[in-house]
Amino acid sequence: MIDKQYGKLSLVCDNCGDGKEGFNNISEILEFVSEEGWITRNANGTWEHYCPTCSEVAEI
Ligand SMILES: [Zn+2]
Repeated sequence: MIDKQYGKLSLVCDNCGDGKEGFNNISEILEFVSEEGWITRNANGTWEHYCPTCSEVAEI
C-alpha cells in the first residue's frame, strides 16, 4: 500500500509491513518499485504492493 504521512509518501508491503518512507511523489515510488523488484497487484480496484522477499516466498 501507499501511505501518506507528514506530507511524504510511504511504500509498505501489504504482506509483511516492510517498506520505505520519504517519497515525494508517486513517480519516485514507481521507480523504486521497478528497481528493487517489488510487485504491484490490483485487487478489486485497490493497488497492493509486495516487497521482493514476499513476492518470492508467497509467489504472488
Ligand atoms: Zn513483504
